[in-house]
Amino acid sequence: MKATIVVLPGDGIGPEVTAEALRVLGAVARKGGHELRFEERLMGGCSIDAHGVALTPEVLRDCQAADAVLLGAVGGPKWDDPRAKVRPEQGLLGLRKGLGVFANLRPVRVHPALVDASPLKADRLVGVDILVIRELTGGLYFGEPKGRHMKDGHEHAVDTLDYADYEVRRVTELAFRLAKGRRRKVTSVDKANVLESSRLWRQVATAVGQENPDVALDHMLVDTAAMRLVQAPASFDVLVTENMFGDILTDEAAVLAGSMGMLPSASLGAGGPGLYEPIHGSAPDIAGKGIANPLGTILSAAMMLRHSLGLEEEAAAVERAAEAAITGGARTADLGGTLSTRAMADEVLRRL
Ligand code: NAD
Repeated sequence: MKATIVVLPGDGIGPEVTAEALRVLGAVARKGGHELRFEERLMGGCSIDAHGVALTPEVLRDCQAADAVLLGAVGGPKWDDPRAKVRPEQGLLGLRKGLGVFANLRPVRVHPALVDASPLKADRLVGVDILVIRELTGGLYFGEPKGRHMKDGHEHAVDTLDYADYEVRRVTELAFRLAKGRRRKVTSVDKANVLESSRLWRQVATAVGQENPDVALDHMLVDTAAMRLVQAPASFDVLVTENMFGDILTDEAAVLAGSMGMLPSASLGAGGPGLYEPIHGSAPDIAGKGIANPLGTILSAAMMLRHSLGLEEEAAAVERAAEAAITGGARTADLGGTLSTRAMADEVLRRL
């Protein structure tokens, strides 16, 4: 098969970890006779330095025309002033909106050899295998009106949590579809006891559930879900929720796995290019040292093979190779080891 992949290394450790993921993708392509073309572009702080904006219209167009987009991470102290008009994260939001990727998928599995890296007791972590799906282009982060105004002599600030039924439907339908390749259980998380938008969410999720009787659906309030994620994480299969709820719960779920450096993500829309990135940021504290864990990005590349390029076997092979590397004792500094970024990727490549 032939595919064009736009690569946005970004800032900090972004270029270090994407370089290793590209080596893995290159090996997969050579082995299977696939023609993967990589086009590198600027996004984030590096784009602000070069062009004055985090994402130029040209780069967005290239991403829209590609088969998939692989992103490292953006941001860093240089661009951190919260009052700045241009900020690296604007590139992320612009890219998500511009690609129409309405669902953010974060699989969280706890490798048996890494249970000690997690802050949770080992017995709670047995069998943890969760797919968290966060709605990504609606909800509280995008609703209008938003902003500041004066009222009764006081300064007010407003954000709006707005969902249309079709926005809830498409992301919950995806949750049910993906649950069918797993343990067939969907937990829809909302705050329906307080929020009208959550009552619509629950109504639509219930309807989609009735259309998929072979998958079990339960509804859970977001505060309960936050508690259950640390109390009984193995009880979840697929969890689907609103944008901000998902932002918070995905980070909470990530802690279960021990290191931020391990976890991949995929953002998918209705058939356009998917966006693949590790869940971690640009890690300025270790940038330039060559010690970042590349597995989150390598596993994101595996998700790209599966969801955008239709190469399920190759995706599974990369995942098995990463797992085998961990089982074999390969550890970067975040996992208590001494391997460099490159050496960790070598361990994966050797087993692929
Ligand atoms: P971070 O994820 O960059 O780092 C948190 C901690 O985890 C750090 O100690 C870091 O060294 C460690 N870490 C992260 N990834 C690692 C890896 N692959 N291997 C080993 N250790 C790793 O989060 P932060 O420090 O809160 O943010 C740093 C910058 O990244 C900020 O500018 C923030 O805005 C940005 N950020 C970007 C994204 C993104 O691009 N999607 C996400 C989160 C944060």
